Amino acid sequence: MRLTCSTCNGEGAIFKSRYGGNDPDVWRDRECEACNGSGNQVCEARSCSETAVAFNDDGEALCEDCLLEWTISEFDLEEDDA
Ligand SMILES: [Zn+2]
Ligand SMILES: [Zn+2]
Repeated sequence: MRLTCSTCNGEGAIFKSRYGGNDPDVWRDRECEACNGSGNQVCEARSCSETAVAFNDDGEALCEDCLLEWTISEFDLEEDDA
């Protein structure tokens, strides 16, 4: 399971066009710095560069480890409220 990089739409590179929009005349400008050219969404957790596997309820793309951590901390918050 993997998520597509939201910066380059999974292309792994940033494309430029002369007119933008649906202009078919596009060229590869540079490697996507958000995913380092892999086309995979990278975990949005601070100082984490794993490949994200899913979104949490806040809409952040997280890797397996961070998602687990997030789930645990959310669970803790709910416990505190009770
Ligand atoms: Zn990318
Ligand atoms: Zn992570």
